[in-house]
Amino acid sequence: MTKTNVPTEDVVFEIDKDGMRIIETKTRMMSMDDNTQVVCDICSKPLGKIKDMKHVLSPESITIAVRNGYRPEKMMKASKDMLIEMGEEKYNEIIEKVFEGWKSMVDQSETPWALCDDCFKNIQQFLKKPGDKRH
Ligand SMILES: [Zn+2]
Repeated sequence: MTKTNVPTEDVVFEIDKDGMRIIETKTRMMSMDDNTQVVCDICSKPLGKIKDMKHVLSPESITIAVRNGYRPEKMMKASKDMLIEMGEEKYNEIIEKVFEGWKSMVDQSETPWALCDDCFKNIQQFLKKPGDKRH
């Protein structure tokens, strides 16, 4: 069994009526072997074992996608559902703040992002822009 040390970020955040607040960001080395379970960094969907991981994007790619108009719909929908459940009426306003918070999390990110099929497909549309071909 191969053991690999991969840098991973732990982001601790809170969602409340003021939006999303990043409490702490820690980067640590995590020892991963073939049986380590990974989840999608955008929607938290389980991706299975690390060897089954198909899509990995650099934080720079995520930043570019966001700049091109990408929004983490699944993550935002989950937050919205949570706010509605909490009885928060101004959830649309709060969601915008959550998105702002998420963007600053992307800006600070320095480790690769593991993505599920859906999120990868979604983000791809924002990475390929006609007329932006770099050789
Ligand atoms: Zn996903």
